[in-house]
Amino acid sequence: MSDNDTLFGKIIRREIPANIVYEDDQVLGFKDIAPQAPVHVLFVPKNEAIPTLDDLKPQQAELVGRLVLAAAEYARREGLAEDGYRVVMNCREHGGQTVYHIHLHLLAGAHLGRFGTPR
Ligand code: AMP
Repeated sequence: MSDNDTLFGKIIRREIPANIVYEDDQVLGFKDIAPQAPVHVLFVPKNEAIPTLDDLKPQQAELVGRLVLAAAEYARREGLAEDGYRVVMNCREHGGQTVYHIHLHLLAGAHLGRFGTPR
């Protein structure tokens, strides 16, 4: 683990509780504490704490693929894949990022509205 310690680092190390619903060797998935859809799960890399998507190096590209694959597997497992879902990564302030440890949001369980409207 790098020295970019965040709330998600504490969840990964089980220092604070979370509703963990997915885990493999590289990715942890847990329910968002303030869900924005009927299903809202966060997928985070367990072994590298990269602050933002803008910090991602080419040699770390596979990690993002692992986050996406984890979300897709979870969606299939939970019967969400056929109806569909949305995955989102927020980057920094204008993207709405609040936790600086890259993560992928999986939103599902209802027909989602359009997105990207400025506040
Ligand atoms: P972002 O705004 O893209 O950085 O996403 C961070 C997400 O973490 C938000 O959707 C928060 O609701 C969520 N969050 C914050 N604290 C917790 C927590 N303790 N457990 C689960 N999700 C959390």
